[in-house]
Amino acid sequence: MEKSTLVSVTCPACDKEGELLKHEIIDITKNPALRSEIVNRQIFTYTCPHCGEKIAVSYDCIYIDTENKHCIALITTDDFSFVDKISAKDYDVRVVGSINDFIEKIALFEDGIDDRVCELCKLFLGESYEEQNNAELLAAYYSGRDMENDNLHFYLIGDDAGNCETTLSMQSYRNILEVFSASPFNNKEETRIDAEWALLALRDGIFDVETDV
Ligand SMILES: [Zn+2]
Repeated sequence: MEKSTLVSVTCPACDKEGELLKHEIIDITKNPALRSEIVNRQIFTYTCPHCGEKIAVSYDCIYIDTENKHCIALITTDDFSFVDKISAKDYDVRVVGSINDFIEKIALFEDGIDDRVCELCKLFLGESYEEQNNAELLAAYYSGRDMENDNLHFYLIGDDAGNCETTLSMQSYRNILEVFSASPFNNKEETRIDAEWALLALRDGIFDVETDV
């Protein structure tokens, strides 16, 4: 199932050519060694052999975990045709548009955190960030689970140029999970789970019930 292709790259710094191995299909169950290269972005980094310049290269890439039935597709163009090929019914399929989102989804799946609930949690984090900093939250990324303190870590990026790390208790996560699980938004077919999805769920009334969230 694995597929990788060697492509030529022209270095923007020295204009010379080199090669980059694009990992188009990654079977992480078969090739677990690639995990660290994804997380540290090495598979998306071209290092020029002539001048040493490092360039981030984003390309279409499918990550498949056959053991846990997860599939994450990083799509950098408007061509979604190869997502259709991999939408196996018993898999949780996610489609993302950036390397950051790709890495975040992998971390969420690995940690057993529901990414839909995670996006809903970010709405609350955004609200308190905006109240506290009087600034708009531009992006929030899940950065890991702290088992010892029973909470989740997030990086927040605000339009006040403030980047910070924050935590959310697992209890808050579980409360939102409970509301979500009983809601009609709990539907396995949705593949694009992001801030926009969460805002639509909010608009369509996901929290319009009495809860103690
Ligand atoms: Zn170069």
